[in-house]
Amino acid sequence: MKIASVIVDVPTSATNQTYDYLVPEKYHEIITPGMRVTVPFGPRKIMGFVVQLKKETHLSKVKELHEVLDITPVLTEELLQLGKSVAKKTLSLYITVFQTMLPQVLKSQYTKDLVRETDEFLSPELEDLFAGRESISFEEFTASSISYYQLQKQIEAGNITIYYHVKSRITKKQLTMVQLDVSEMRAMEALEDLSKQAKKQKELIQFFIEYPEPIEQAKLIQTLGTSAQTVKTLVSKGIVKTFQQEVFRDPYKNQPIEQTEAFELTEEQAEAIKPVMASIENQEDNIFLLHGVTGSGKTEIYLQSIQHVISKGQEAIVLVPEISLTPQMVRRFKGRFGSSVAVMHSGLSAGEKYDEWRKIQQKQVQVVVGARSAIFAPFSNIGIIIIDEEHETTYKQEDQPRYHARDVAIERAVSHRCPVVLGSATPSLESYARAKKGVYKLLTLASRTNQQQMPSVEIVDMRKELHAGNRTMFSTSLMENMKACMERGEQIVLLLNRRGYSTFVMCRDCGHVSECPHCDIALTYHKNSHRLKCHYCSYEQAVPAHCPSCESDSIRYFGTGTQRVEESLAKLLPEARVIRMDVDTTRRKGSHGKLLKQFSEKKADILLGTQMIAKGLDFKDVTLVGVLSADSMLHLPDFRASERTFQLLTQVSGRAGRHELTGNVIVQTYTPEHYSVTYAAGHNFLDFYQHEMAVRKAFQYPPFVFLVLVTVSHENHARAVQVTGEIVKQLSEIVSPGTTILGPTPSTIARIKDRYRYQCMIKYKHEPDLINYLEQIQSAYADEIRKQTLQLFIDMQPYYMM
Ligand code: ADP
Ligand code: ZN
Ligand code: ZN
Repeated sequence: MKIASVIVDVPTSATNQTYDYLVPEKYHEIITPGMRVTVPFGPRKIMGFVVQLKKETHLSKVKELHEVLDITPVLTEELLQLGKSVAKKTLSLYITVFQTMLPQVLKSQYTKDLVRETDEFLSPELEDLFAGRESISFEEFTASSISYYQLQKQIEAGNITIYYHVKSRITKKQLTMVQLDVSEMRAMEALEDLSKQAKKQKELIQFFIEYPEPIEQAKLIQTLGTSAQTVKTLVSKGIVKTFQQEVFRDPYKNQPIEQTEAFELTEEQAEAIKPVMASIENQEDNIFLLHGVTGSGKTEIYLQSIQHVISKGQEAIVLVPEISLTPQMVRRFKGRFGSSVAVMHSGLSAGEKYDEWRKIQQKQVQVVVGARSAIFAPFSNIGIIIIDEEHETTYKQEDQPRYHARDVAIERAVSHRCPVVLGSATPSLESYARAKKGVYKLLTLASRTNQQQMPSVEIVDMRKELHAGNRTMFSTSLMENMKACMERGEQIVLLLNRRGYSTFVMCRDCGHVSECPHCDIALTYHKNSHRLKCHYCSYEQAVPAHCPSCESDSIRYFGTGTQRVEESLAKLLPEARVIRMDVDTTRRKGSHGKLLKQFSEKKADILLGTQMIAKGLDFKDVTLVGVLSADSMLHLPDFRASERTFQLLTQVSGRAGRHELTGNVIVQTYTPEHYSVTYAAGHNFLDFYQHEMAVRKAFQYPPFVFLVLVTVSHENHARAVQVTGEIVKQLSEIVSPGTTILGPTPSTIARIKDRYRYQCMIKYKHEPDLINYLEQIQSAYADEIRKQTLQLFIDMQPYYMM
């Protein structure tokens, strides 16, 4: 008898356990843990993961499992164990974690084909089955009498592959693209010439004046709500043209990447890499914190350590924040390791992601460079794990399972006996404190590789500007420097801290701001559709013509901060060519890379953008960086506000003068005396660290304590308060005396989708049984949670206190 223990795809706490099924004879030889199966569950057939195989079960009656979906397991033994542990530590369901580890394509059932990969003779039965065809449907195989074992052997030998049908795979290879066919000047004239009635045509031309690059016709129609007819009309007038473009599955395939050689390391680099190499050699799971100023050559250290790992026949995982997965960063890895690199990021389609994942699974690559979830790459012999920009908050997942990639990395490093390297110019306080205590090993790079000075930073007090009568967003100094910079033919990066500005609609007379009727949050103004939308639920409405509160008709639109800056630049510095980079201009796939490419080809003088331009970019002619408002993040109700401000200012300053030309940074602020501004200006991480640690200590915040945020949400306000109160009370009775429980308090956004939200915060230093306590609380409300009347979110070590 063969029994499979299965975790089923029913995401409730009641079913968060294994179920036993009898394995049918035909699967006996091939079934292994980590495969997906379908099983009967109540009246339904559902998907599940085999986590264990055994000879007997304590159940008297077991059903047969229905079908084995994978011929080779999708999760390794190690990943199964890891999944269980992550589920426990984040109070998540096993099934949720397993799903998180896999590409989207494998989360549901797709039809599949068997594809022949070789001309070699397979076996008489298989030859009969394929009957000269390149591929057959999987059903044909299951209908035959050929054993799964035979198929599995062929798959393992690479002679046959399983091909999952993903929608994006069958998208046509040619796309219709639309592009302006006249100069921008001529387009503007055409705009003037068109009659008032030709509104759609005008919109389209306007769009191309703003975004001159070619765009897919389907996307254009969708974005503007226009029609193919409008495009056609403009084509006939010779204003735009259409052309066919091939779609590449590999987003980097059409750009040649230059091969690079290892640099000879500087003395500092050589010193820093030594212990990492030793750990790789001796298979030690050491954790290194590589603290190196921007431009100090951290990436070269990653590359050379990986080179060593590959030469030993091992594999490497490199995590980078999503936003720095720019073509520049990817190029550096592809440039050194060529086709041995898989790249995983959210810009890929489901099919592309699955392709990359499969390269890892089939050992066609030795290196993966990816965002957070790449930490689950199914490698089986990892030699190093690198986390670049380790302080970035994107490494923490914000919904279930709320894991931190660093914690998962450390756990995997222990299993694989390999080092972890955490790199940053501005390490998180948590990591730096651990390095100071010797938990992590500190490696320091204090100077830039080319011995180039760190750029000089000027702090401009915007209050004084205002008093002096300057009402623009640009201080006199920034304006003069921009002009001078352009005259020298050099380039400028302008950073706007997006959070300080928002895109809302306000009444000029009474100050009324339109809010979502279902969430306690202002509606966001969308310029293109001219509508107000809620970013927490799907609510949207037209922009009111009159103020709902005072009837006044002087409604003021606040476009995105960057849009406003762009408009203002056009007035004050009309000769400047500006590229704007924010969520609006980079929504289209690939546009991020295109904009950067234009900037690097010097098709613009100014790159204006939000946080996304602060990191990882390296342009040799950028000599001036302007920060428009340094302190807009400082006043958020978040104990990490100073840390984030310091990190952002340091990162963006690092964009200036990375090459021969020296760089200048101008930081505009209303709080010039704030320590996160002054220390960032002085490139002084250590003093910032000490100052901030004193603050954290005084207020008892991490790294001096650990935090847990428990959020309760319910449609009924009273019930939300009541449950939160009960939780506070229950916890207070069991935790140790040193632990503090704060709350219940309303969450920062006190209502989302008509559900009221309350929270409590646990601050603790040592609470070994906390997970168990929290599990008890979860199960105490299991009934209400299952019925979804009550929602309970438990976030261990939260980053967002909302
Ligand atoms: P970081 O990642 O610390 O910001 P980078 O790795 O981007 O720094 O290095 C900055 C620049 O120095 C890059 O252009 C890189 O190619 C170059 N570089 C790195 N190491 C060396 C070296 N040993 N010799 C010469 N140039 C180097
Ligand atoms: Zn009003
Ligand atoms: Zn809403």
